[in-house]
Amino acid sequence: MARKFSENKLVVASHNEGKVREIRELLAPFGVKVYSSAELKLSEPIEDGETFCENAEIKSKSATGECGLVSLADDSGLVVPSLGGIPGIHSARYAINPDTSERDFDYGMERLHNELGDNERRAYFACALSLAWPDGHVETFEGQVHGELIWPLRGDNGFGYDPMFVADGHKDSFGEMAAAEKHAISHRANAFKKLIDACFRP
Ligand code: IMP
Repeated sequence: MARKFSENKLVVASHNEGKVREIRELLAPFGVKVYSSAELKLSEPIEDGETFCENAEIKSKSATGECGLVSLADDSGLVVPSLGGIPGIHSARYAINPDTSERDFDYGMERLHNELGDNERRAYFACALSLAWPDGHVETFEGQVHGELIWPLRGDNGFGYDPMFVADGHKDSFGEMAAAEKHAISHRANAFKKLIDACFRP
């Protein structure tokens, strides 16, 4: 039985304002005051875990340790089983273009396409969400969405590897879908549903 969240505020352990906004919206029905890491000037820990769940827990525990509030952290990425699970937890780093040292997903997707060659094109996005309490208790949930990698790329909605991914049962890539359509089936939505059902519903 998961621990219920019974406080009236939490901190989202992320410096990404987009993520904080999305989480604020998702938690709005539960009357929770949501702070961001930036607002509380929290540091960013080194993510040296070996799984999405481990990295989400590193981030949530670090934030809670620094500020004493319950915190919520996420970690996500794309996994290609036929290539041994890359880019996986290194999804953001994998897309750094060596010519510019900048994150560049056109570069990252072409790199992945080249590495794929004739290998099986199945892939999935994963998202881990971790809720940490000041007494050390942690609840962590993982959501996934499975599908296939395509080439050429299609669409420029969303972010990251979206134009290269078509979810099972769908024709449009994540890059072609409207935000609401993607959010209804995404790995992040799936993890959130698990978190909300386990920790936020009475
Ligand atoms: P992080 O969880 O902020 O470290 O980001 C992980 C990386 O995974 C992102 O920079 C993207 O490259 C990739 N990623 C995670 N979720 C998605 C998604 O929904 N669409 C496309 N790429 C994603």
